[in-house]
Amino acid sequence: MIIKPKIRGFICTTAHPEGCKVHVNRQIEYARNHRLPKGASKVLVIGASTGYGLASRIAASFGMGADTVGVFLERHASGDRTATAGWYNSAAFEQAARQAGFFAQSINDDAFSDETKQATIDLVKEKLGKVDLIVYSIASPRRTDPKTGITYSSVLKPIGQAYTNKTVNVQTGVVSDITVEPATPEEIEHTVKVMGGEDWALWIDALAKADLLADGVITLAYSYIGPEVTHAIYRDGTIGRAKDDLEHTARILSERLKPYNGRAYVSVNKALVTQSSSAIPIVPLYMSLLFKTMKEKGLHEGCIEQMVRLFSKLYQDGPVPTDEQGRIRLDDWELREDVQQEVAAKWPQVTTETLPELGDLEQYRQDFLHLFGFGFEEVDYDQDVNPDVPLS
Ligand code: NAD
Repeated sequence: MIIKPKIRGFICTTAHPEGCKVHVNRQIEYARNHRLPKGASKVLVIGASTGYGLASRIAASFGMGADTVGVFLERHASGDRTATAGWYNSAAFEQAARQAGFFAQSINDDAFSDETKQATIDLVKEKLGKVDLIVYSIASPRRTDPKTGITYSSVLKPIGQAYTNKTVNVQTGVVSDITVEPATPEEIEHTVKVMGGEDWALWIDALAKADLLADGVITLAYSYIGPEVTHAIYRDGTIGRAKDDLEHTARILSERLKPYNGRAYVSVNKALVTQSSSAIPIVPLYMSLLFKTMKEKGLHEGCIEQMVRLFSKLYQDGPVPTDEQGRIRLDDWELREDVQQEVAAKWPQVTTETLPELGDLEQYRQDFLHLFGFGFEEVDYDQDVNPDVPLS
């Protein structure tokens, strides 16, 4: 099959197996070249196939030498449909990890279900034994509660009142105003159900019950804060409520992990192009201004750079550096005063005409294509490739 990108709105419906392999191998190379302190050695990553979860898994194995089990929800190739990028990423990761002598196996199923938790526990028990790091990096539009069978959907909306600001159509480069209507109380509650901390806690409780938590165990989940211009849609919006819940869950889990001398942390990460963040209005325009500013200052990072920096903070000698609310801050460079002053100064000036000069939409587009294995020089996209890549 000859595979080209097919972009529909903010998703790409095709993925390229060779390109995804290049994307994964680049991240592996980075992690290999940035050896980390000896930290975790048996790691479970929930949401391990793309974005921050994939980078966490790569950094754990190739930076710290860890064996890993990954959980994700991806689709295999069938008929004239390619597999999803996360499928190809995971196949490439597992192959490279095993070649390097690390254990790597995955469960491709709904992480929110009791059955998936049990299957993961069985695999972890058999192959890893007790785990010393659990990364929870799920980003999902919906969740079925395993107790009630009710399916909840998350929304990206402001709270209280409608919000109007600029956004960009990433494909055309057109900057325009967008108005997002406020969420109903039910939508707020449902977003918290999907993206809050409930499922993270269910995972930790299930692992504890199965006696799979090692002494000194750490669990991590990821959050975002961002600047004023994104607050209405992100931190003060429905997703922000879910992140507040996630952060509250970290405090509860830290208490529960005390008998294991363990700790739960939320890491506040940088805004980056992933399949999930592309769906948020306003944020892609902010990111294109941010990327230009951070690149000019030599501060730009991708998922793997962030995750390597996270593990180096987590496993350095001495206490883990956190803010006053106990969160690890990887958004420190994004939120640096000089960076934010520049982005804020550009914001009122940005239009379709000025964006090419003020922002870096090209970097955004390239990062987006890379997510699906496209836009890599090493790959000949006119070559026939087999889309049916096995994942064991
Ligand atoms: P992503 O879309 O790249 O990854 C999501 C992962 O969740 C994938 O592995 C996917 O397979 C998995 N997943 C989704 N639904 C699932 C299900 N039902 N069962 C099993 N697996 C499922 O997302 P991301 O941007 O890397 O986000 C990960 C976390 O990082 C989220 O909590 C997000 O809010 C947070 N975060 C993201 C950014 C950003 O800018 N991208 C910034 C800060 C924090």
